[in-house]
Amino acid sequence: MTTPFDDDHLREECGVFGIYGHAEAARHVALGLHALQHRGQEAAGIVAFDGARFQAHRAMGHVSETFESDRVMAELSGYAAIGHVRYATFGATILRNVQPLFADLSFGGFGIAHNGNLTNAMTLRRKLVKQGCIFQSTSDTETILHLVATSTKNSEIDRLIDALHQIEGAYSLVALTSSMMLGMRDPLGVRPLVLGKLDDGSMVFASETCALDIIGADFVRDVEPGEIVIISDDGIQSLKPFQSPRPRFCIFEHIYFARPDSVVEGRSVYDVRKQIGAELARESGVDADVVIPVPDSGVPASIGYAAEARIPFELGIIRNHYVGRTFIEPTQQIRNLGVKLKHNANRPQIAGRRVVLVDDSIVRGTTSLKIVQMVRDAGAREVHMRIASPPTTHSCFYGVDTPERSQLLAATHDIEGMRKFIQADSLAFISMDGLYRAMGEAGRNPAAPQFCDACFTGDYPVSLTDHWGGDEDQSRRSRVKIAG
Ligand code: AMP
Repeated sequence: MTTPFDDDHLREECGVFGIYGHAEAARHVALGLHALQHRGQEAAGIVAFDGARFQAHRAMGHVSETFESDRVMAELSGYAAIGHVRYATFGATILRNVQPLFADLSFGGFGIAHNGNLTNAMTLRRKLVKQGCIFQSTSDTETILHLVATSTKNSEIDRLIDALHQIEGAYSLVALTSSMMLGMRDPLGVRPLVLGKLDDGSMVFASETCALDIIGADFVRDVEPGEIVIISDDGIQSLKPFQSPRPRFCIFEHIYFARPDSVVEGRSVYDVRKQIGAELARESGVDADVVIPVPDSGVPASIGYAAEARIPFELGIIRNHYVGRTFIEPTQQIRNLGVKLKHNANRPQIAGRRVVLVDDSIVRGTTSLKIVQMVRDAGAREVHMRIASPPTTHSCFYGVDTPERSQLLAATHDIEGMRKFIQADSLAFISMDGLYRAMGEAGRNPAAPQFCDACFTGDYPVSLTDHWGGDEDQSRRSRVKIAG
């Protein structure tokens, strides 16, 4: 992950993968990263260890391009390797930020790949720079490297634990040293990380189970919130150095970010999305002739909506898969163009019909506005927009890219204002309790919410120390609720 710093202001979403004990470790990591490509399309990297040397290859671009060369793969020889895909959304993109990061420390080589976002990285960084640390990147992950490097503890594990005790935020990390591979999650388990195993006994870490499937690995279990899993020639060891509060897994992984064929924290992402669609139909049903998803992210929820509402489901919008995600484009002008490049109306399914459009979320409103227009231009009689998440009113500081609050449509408009903005005949979002019911819960427990839903509630479960300029009191208050 990357932190705001100077001009190289980047934010990212990411995927991580690692394997220990396989002769073709790096090739397996490349496959795993390929399955995690949806978590980051901007850059990819692998660090491999062959018992004597660490080798790294990092590049901008997709996994298939970055690791297509036999020469590159041959250099990444060894029985252990970790990898990373990165999704930076705006600002300068520079190779020195591409992960895994690697450094030679006093105990030997140390590679690290991070999914999430540290919320006190800038505060720590200022202290470390004063102490003489020289940062090579603008990545918040590098803070962890320096904390490990400068720790006064003895063993590499104790140094790592020392570092983890100082960082705040969301992190699923995979790390590699000359004697072990490590996988760890922050105490609230905001971002996902799973442990898998191949038939030959080699062990795997991955952000999502779809990356285990691609290499034929079996799912063993989720790495637990606050847990460090150590894989070495001596087997598997689990450490729990943190007092584990109640976990707060990111609910947006289920709504949008994870792949629908993944099982995340014991729940099938596809099933959850279908359930959200069914809840939406129960909560905000409308007379209509056809249910149409905004592809791809609206598809499972539309299927659930259509089945519950007993309205035919049709692919009334076709997506061109050969363009990147809309959000990759840095300016609003290009983003507008990106939406047109990406979607086209399937006229015969739309003309003369009352259409329910289903998408996973509205962020700035750009996509919804374009799609509603496109569907009207294709001859729809009515267009009813249904959204498979509550209104996105707050920015995420834990590793999912959302723009500043001022750019979030729901932060500045009520539902009627949003409906007017996107020019739909009606607009409805799933309720918070409806979302929690779709997750198999009775509803949201306001006293102890079961998930991190800060993007919908402003209830930030981890201090936002950097955001509040290092003001500890403010930061503590933010743990309860950021209202503004
Ligand atoms: P917007 O056009 O700004 O309202 O963004 C909403 C669209 O972007 C929806 O179709 C979502 O599928 C998609 N989306 C939502 N959150 C994200 C995100 N963090 N990164 C990329 N795309 C997103």
